Amino acid sequence: MSEMPEKYVGEAGSPKPHLSETAGLPDQVGNVARRSMEELVEDICASQGKTQRSLGPLDKVYVFWLAGMSCDGCTVSVTGATEPALEDLLTGSLPGVPLVVLHHYVLQLESGDHYIHTLEKAEQGKLDAPYVIVYEGSIADESLTVDGEPFAAEGSLPLWAPSEQRRRVATAEWMKRLSPTAAAVIAIGTCATWGGIPASYGNVTGSMSVMDFLGKNYRSVLGLPVINIPGCAPVGDNFTDAVQAILLFLQGLGPLPEFDELGRPAWQFSETVHRHCVRAGYYEEGIFAKEFGDKECLVEIGCWGPVVQCNITEAGAISHLGGCMNAGGPCIGCTMPGFPDKFSPFYKSPPGSLLSSNASRLLGSIIRPLRRISQRERNREIRWHETVPSGWAMEKGDVSLTHKILEFFYEAMQFQGAKKPGRELPEEQFPSGYITLPEQKYGKDFQLLPEDRAKKAEKRT
Ligand code: SF4
Ligand code: SF4
Repeated sequence: MSEMPEKYVGEAGSPKPHLSETAGLPDQVGNVARRSMEELVEDICASQGKTQRSLGPLDKVYVFWLAGMSCDGCTVSVTGATEPALEDLLTGSLPGVPLVVLHHYVLQLESGDHYIHTLEKAEQGKLDAPYVIVYEGSIADESLTVDGEPFAAEGSLPLWAPSEQRRRVATAEWMKRLSPTAAAVIAIGTCATWGGIPASYGNVTGSMSVMDFLGKNYRSVLGLPVINIPGCAPVGDNFTDAVQAILLFLQGLGPLPEFDELGRPAWQFSETVHRHCVRAGYYEEGIFAKEFGDKECLVEIGCWGPVVQCNITEAGAISHLGGCMNAGGPCIGCTMPGFPDKFSPFYKSPPGSLLSSNASRLLGSIIRPLRRISQRERNREIRWHETVPSGWAMEKGDVSLTHKILEFFYEAMQFQGAKKPGRELPEEQFPSGYITLPEQKYGKDFQLLPEDRAKKAEKRT
């Protein structure tokens, strides 16, 4: 990463003009707040008594959210993020993190040409802070369109011109115009990161990912290649968490965030979802669901979790709740390059799972009975030998010879090289030689239940 300037200033060394300087521009239609996004967040900060928003070189960062071949699912996910929440980023509520001024086609206060005007200012270097591009959806090959009408567009140019003189501007064009001077480009969702559904077999839009579009040599002004946060839809927290980590680093307040070879935040995507799955214990014991709704491992009804890099089992779909396998759905690999084609048909189990699940089944057939023996014994208090005082079922102690032999060896191994609980050893006795009254009366049997102790005494006589 390149170094950030001491304090972001205009090209001439003086702060750039305020974004809301709209003198001479026509009135906006529909902006009942009569505010720009920047004025809104500044009002919010002022109402909270915040004067100094940042502890580093950046006071604020503009974020331009562009949408290509998208279903808006990424927007829905990010607006539902909780740790941190989007609102925290937009109101300067995170200590040390600069204020984020978001320009998003759904959340924007400005409308029409006033909205696009900010993109033009960014391209012309007239903003008073750096900007980041967030791209949602894949980028269509606009050379395949008919009559120049883009597959995905935002606004039309020239601004404030009569309609017959205008042309709609593809978001791919905005990416081309804005990416050279962006502080960072973040692709959100699998369509933007790898191509996703719009780039699958048979599509006629020539859709591709942001990386495909910008090429491997692309670097932002901070020296960053494209950052990729995949998922269809992505976990909203993955986006806000990564943005927060990057901004804290740029402020000199956090460590350098680690990204993997495909530009994914390594702390979010280096593990397979299987390793943290709530059903992984069933897989390991070789017990598999036969139909949807079963509680066991879903690999035989289509789960690709063992080879898919995703953190939804820990992060949850929202607020650490839900998420595919937690909610009963098998992993269909939506965070991965190659999704959906390389993971379809979704109703079939992955070919490689045949070998691994049968290996688990074989191993499980040996391990499971041994574990149940051990589990049964761990389910008994140390004083429950012959009887179990439960009114819930006909619970019996296990006093068979086999059980006693197994338990003898198990206990020997359990405490090998360790201290066994109790007061057996000489150094565990009272130094004065005092023996407690229960021990005086019953010897080692003092810990038995009274009924068992009586039975034992009876046997002895
Ligand atoms: S449900 Fe999928 S991710 Fe979970 S244990 Fe089974 S194979 Fe692994
Ligand atoms: S578990 Fe699989 S299907 Fe679910 S979000 Fe992760 S990658 Fe996508």
